[in-house]
Amino acid sequence: MKVYKTVRGLQAHITKLKSKKKRIGYVPTLGALHNGHMSLIRQANANCDITVCSIFVNPTQFNETSDLDKYPRTFEADSTLLKENECDILFFPGPKQIYPPGLDTTIALDFEGLDTVMEGAFRPGHFDGVAQVVKRLLDIVKPHELIMGQKDFQQVAIVRHMMTHFKIKTKLVVSPTIRESHGLAMSSRNERLSKKLRQDAAIIHETLQWIKDNQQKYKKVVTLEKKALAMLSIPRFKPEYVSIIDGITLQSVNDIKKAKYVAVCTAVWAGKVRLIDNIILKGD
Ligand code: AMP
Repeated sequence: MKVYKTVRGLQAHITKLKSKKKRIGYVPTLGALHNGHMSLIRQANANCDITVCSIFVNPTQFNETSDLDKYPRTFEADSTLLKENECDILFFPGPKQIYPPGLDTTIALDFEGLDTVMEGAFRPGHFDGVAQVVKRLLDIVKPHELIMGQKDFQQVAIVRHMMTHFKIKTKLVVSPTIRESHGLAMSSRNERLSKKLRQDAAIIHETLQWIKDNQQKYKKVVTLEKKALAMLSIPRFKPEYVSIIDGITLQSVNDIKKAKYVAVCTAVWAGKVRLIDNIILKGD
C-alpha cells in the first residue's frame, strides 16, 4: 500500500494509473477504522482496479472543538487494517493540504431541506462541512466510484445532492451497514461505550427492526415513532429523534403505504456517546 501525505504526490500517482485505464474506487474516512469501513474497501476492490482510502479528521464538520480533539487517531492500526484488506493507496493529508491558505473551498449550497432535519437540526453546520470536504476530496482524487456507507443515511443524501449540483461524474455507491453480532451498527464511537452500554445498545437496531415489522399495524406514522421513542428510553439511554422519512427528500412521510422509498433514522445517547442508525422500511 502506498501512503501519500500531499495532494501533489497522490495526484501524480493517480494520473499514471488513469493513463493505464485503471478504474479508481475511493473511500473517504475519518480514521479509527473498523470492519464497517473495511466493507467499503472490499466493495471498492470488487468494483474497481485500484482502491484509494483517505483518512482526514475534517475540522469543518465538527460543531465543537472538544469533539474534534476527542476524535480517536489510530494511524498505525488503521494502516495495518487497510493493508490486510488490500487497499492500494492511503491518502493521509494534513489540514493545509485540504484547506491551503488562499484557496476558497467553501460551497454555499441550498440543500433544499436535506440539512435542516435530523442530524442537521442537532448539529448545525455539520453538513456544510461534510459537503465541503467531500467536494474538495473528489476534486483531488477524481475517482470513478465513491463508496459510502448507508450507516450515515443523511450524509449520503447530502453528498448525492452536492454531486448533482456540481455535475460530478463519479458514481456514488452506497454500501450496507455492517453490524456487531447483536445488531449494533459498527462505529468508532462504540469503543467509548462500557461493556454494559454496548450490550444494551442492541435496543437501537431492535427498535428499528420492530418498526419495520410493525409498519402495517398502525394507521399513523407518529404512533410508530412515539412507541419507538418509548422503547429506546431504557436506563442511561436517551433518544433524540426517531424519524420515518422519505428516503430521497428526508422529509416526514404521513402514510408509508403511499410513499415509494421510506427509511427510519434515529440518534440515541447511550450514556455520553451519541449513536446513529437507520434501516430501510420500504423501496430501493
Ligand atoms: P467515518 O470515518 O465515520 O466518516 O466513516 C467513513 C465511511 O464509512 C462513511 O461512508 C460511513 O458511512 C462508513 N461507515 C461507518 N460505519 C459503517 C458501518 N458500520 N457499516 C458500513 N459503513 C460504515
